[in-house]
Amino acid sequence: MPQLTVQLKTPNGVSYTQPIGLFIGNEWHAAKSGEKITSINPTDETEIATVEAAGPEDVDIAVAAARKAFKDPSWRDIGGTERGKLMHKLATIIEREKETLAAIETWDNGKPYSASLNEDLAEVTGALNYYAGYADKLHGQVIETTPAKLAYTIREPIGVCGQIIPWNYPLAMAAWKLGPALASGNTVVLKAAEQTPLSILYLANLIKEAGFPPGVVNILNGYGKSAGAALASHLDVDKIAFTGSTNTGREIMKMAAVNLKNITLETGGKSPLLVFDDADLDQAVKWSHIGIMSNQGQICTATSRILVQDGVYDSFIKAFKDHVVNTSKVGDPFEDSTFQGPQVTKAQFDRVLSYIETGKSEGATLATGGEAYKNVNGKGFFISPTVFTDVKNTMKIFREEVFGPFVVISSFETEEEAVAIANDTTYGLGSAVFTKDIVKAHRVARNIEAGMVWINSSNDSDFRVPFGGVKQSGIGRELGEAGLDSYTNKKAIHVNLGSWL
Ligand code: NAD
Repeated sequence: MPQLTVQLKTPNGVSYTQPIGLFIGNEWHAAKSGEKITSINPTDETEIATVEAAGPEDVDIAVAAARKAFKDPSWRDIGGTERGKLMHKLATIIEREKETLAAIETWDNGKPYSASLNEDLAEVTGALNYYAGYADKLHGQVIETTPAKLAYTIREPIGVCGQIIPWNYPLAMAAWKLGPALASGNTVVLKAAEQTPLSILYLANLIKEAGFPPGVVNILNGYGKSAGAALASHLDVDKIAFTGSTNTGREIMKMAAVNLKNITLETGGKSPLLVFDDADLDQAVKWSHIGIMSNQGQICTATSRILVQDGVYDSFIKAFKDHVVNTSKVGDPFEDSTFQGPQVTKAQFDRVLSYIETGKSEGATLATGGEAYKNVNGKGFFISPTVFTDVKNTMKIFREEVFGPFVVISSFETEEEAVAIANDTTYGLGSAVFTKDIVKAHRVARNIEAGMVWINSSNDSDFRVPFGGVKQSGIGRELGEAGLDSYTNKKAIHVNLGSWL
């Protein structure tokens, strides 16, 4: 039997036991695939740990465990109140372990420790507690049809849910998906991203400790093309929920068609942020920075296209550039003063650098950044925060998602033109509007083709509010009450109270 744990110590001194197996039926397993994933610390490029990677045969076993649990009375019949209690308990255990989870997340992903602890872990416990509260409030409706008949609806879990998550917010993405799935009584096979395999395995042990019956939550690491594809195309999986790139979302949709799976997709974006002449410029500058430079720019809703009205274009650019240079301290993510850590992997680092070269060759003005940032030992996937100005909406850097600390800025004359440029994209995820004119703010918010609009802020999302995109940014909604619709079926039951008609 291979060893399925290793003893590790995070760079900030947390000693802990790291599981490295596949979590199926509340037990740890070696992968039948024989495949492994080695996690690399993006700060200094050292190896952290090697974990088991599931293949199709392992996915079959996990799906069978989830199916068995779905039918088992220990989960099927416990009722919403008990499900809610289990979820609250899990949130409490996560709160207890939050320093360890945050340290693992930062080590594996490169995001600043302060963000892991104060933002991501707060999101995890917040979302789990929020959905725990819904577990006993999932009611149907009574619909009177004719005097002799009525119909009522009940909300049933969908069944076995495959959940494929990305690497930019590993724990938070898991919580966004586990919360509504468990509150409504589903069972889950969750596949983490191969770039960040570690924190999710630590979470698995906490799920077991909280008392969830075996097979309710199964957690696998594995590569997209093998484990991910096996889950998306599995005939005994009823739903697939995915967050990641639009291209992979498209592939998943095709695979999910094999048995017409219920599907939720959160994909890419190239979200616009509009600054009108009458905006509070200080606020616009601060939120523009948060909206693109947080999380190393690796946010699907990042407001990565800034459109500024002519009258304030020059003053905005000067203030924004100064703010970026002064506040985006790049460096060791475990240092308190760090705002920006490394990109998650060498592949993402190379991707951002290649877009920097594209921007230069397309003739945009490089206002600041535009190079790899040299860490003390010359290692790590750091990129200095990069701002291109005078960008035309025909340029590739204006149209394609970069997913890094990389922003393009261009100008507009009129509101109509601003909305037209904002909507000139295949994406429709986030958007932001800065103006002091309340009527204009709401008019623009309605005219922008996006799933979410922030008025006078950016990327200020909240687990109580629906999250998702239009156009090629996704299908369905996560978070808020709407998130539960993605994990329940409404069954209609018709009752004949009359004799026969
Ligand atoms: P990806 O979409 O390929 O990966 C996301 C998840 O999907 C991972 O768990 C991966 O294993 C899985 N996956 C990949 N191929 C699959 C397949 N064929 N079948 C089933 N599952 C599959 O993203 P990536 O390659 O890690 O990143 C590339 C780009 O995607 C980024 O540069 C960024 O533009 C975008 N991205 C977006 C988000 C987001 O939050 N919307 C997150 C990560 C990446």
